[in-house]
Amino acid sequence: MTGTPYGRSAVKEAVAAAQAAASAKKVERVYNFNPGPAVLPVPALEEAQRDLVTLPGVGMSVLEISHRSKTFEGILAEAEADLRAVLGIPDNYKVIFLGGGASLQFTMVAMNLLPRDGSADYIHTGSWAAAAIKEAKKLGRVNVAATTEADKFSRIPRQEELKLDPNAAYVHFTSNNTIEGTEWFVEPETGSVPLVCDASSDILSRPIDVKKYGVVYAGAQKNMGPAGVTVVILRDDLLARVPAGLPSMLDYKLQAEKQSLYNTPPVFAIYLVRLVLKWLKGIGGLPEMERRNREKADLLYNAIDSSGGFYRGTAEKASRSRMNVTFRMASEELEKKFVDEAKAGKLVGLGGHRSVGGMRASLYNAFPKEGVEALVAFMKDFQQRNSTGYGT
Ligand SMILES: *Cc1c(COP(=O)(O)O)cnc(C)c1O
Repeated sequence: MTGTPYGRSAVKEAVAAAQAAASAKKVERVYNFNPGPAVLPVPALEEAQRDLVTLPGVGMSVLEISHRSKTFEGILAEAEADLRAVLGIPDNYKVIFLGGGASLQFTMVAMNLLPRDGSADYIHTGSWAAAAIKEAKKLGRVNVAATTEADKFSRIPRQEELKLDPNAAYVHFTSNNTIEGTEWFVEPETGSVPLVCDASSDILSRPIDVKKYGVVYAGAQKNMGPAGVTVVILRDDLLARVPAGLPSMLDYKLQAEKQSLYNTPPVFAIYLVRLVLKWLKGIGGLPEMERRNREKADLLYNAIDSSGGFYRGTAEKASRSRMNVTFRMASEELEKKFVDEAKAGKLVGLGGHRSVGGMRASLYNAFPKEGVEALVAFMKDFQQRNSTGYGT
C-alpha cells in the first residue's frame, strides 16, 4: 500500500478489501461429500436465495403463500411435469409428494400393497433394505428372497440367487445402498410381480425404464432437493389393491386422488425440487447426468485401484455405486487422520457411516467433477506422506 497509512484512500482501500474478503468468504463453498442431506446445484440455491423474500409477481415469499394458491399449484404442477419429463414417467403412473422421509415409505408400501393373507419378497442388500424389511414385517409376511450379508453386503445378488415367490404381492429392492456403496445397474427380473424400489440415493442419477417398476420412491435429500419431501411414483392399477380404512395420511389412494394436497405438503422442499429439476433439464437431462456421474466415479475408483493397495474399495467391482464410493485404509487410525486432514483442506464429509467405518465419498448429481479431482490429488499426497514402510 502506498501513501500515508491513515490517508483517506488507504482507509477506503482497506474497507473495500475487507468487504471483498467478507463477501468472498461468504460465497466460498467447500467440497461437500456428505451422504444426505447433500450438495445441491448452486443455480438452484441462488434462485431460491434471490426470490426468497419476494417471489416474482407475488409480493410474498414461497414460505408464506397458501398451498392452495394458484402460485403454489403452479410450482407443484411444474415439479411434477418436469419430473415426468426428465425420468420419462408414463401417463399411467401417479406422482405423489409426501412428508415423512423414505422411512415412512417402508411402512406405507407394506400397509398399502401387502395383503394380510399374502407375502412380499424383499432383497436384502444392506442397512436401508434391512430397515424396509423390519417395518414390513410389522405389517405382514416377508420373504427375504436373497441376502448378501455373508459377503458383508459388498455386492448385489445375481439374478439366479433370487428365490422369488411367483405369488408375492411385490418384490422390494434398494437400487443404491448408500452405506455399503453398492448399486443395481440392471433391475431384478420379477416376471409379473410388481417391482418396488427404494431409489432414495440414486434417483435421477441415470435414465431408468419406469415401466419396469410398480413403485419407485425416494427421499429428496440425496439427489433431488432438501430433506422434507419424498417422491412416490406409483403405477395406477396398484391403487386397486389399497385396503379400505387406512389412516388417511398413509393411504396412497387418497394421497394420489388429492394430488399431494390432502394436507399442507412440504411447500418449500417441493419448490426446491422444482428448481433442481429445472437445473437438471438445463444441463441435458439424465443422459448427460449419467455421463457426468460415470466420469466422476471412474476418476475416484481409478485412484483407489491404482494406489497399490493403500486405498481399498469395499464393494465388488461389478456392484460399485456411482453415488457413494466406499473405501478403507490399513488402519482406523490412518482413516481418521485422512478424514480430519481432508476436512481441513475443504474436502468435507468423507467419514464412512458409523456402522461400517472407513471412508465414503458421496458423489451425487450436484457434486462437481473439480471436487473429485481435488480429492484424488489429496489422496495421492496423503499416500506419499503416510506410506513409509507401507507395502514395501
Ligand atoms: C437416506 C436413505 C433412506 C432414509 O431416508 P429418510 O428420508 O431419512 O427416511 C432410505 N433409503 C435409502 C436408500 C437412503 O439412502
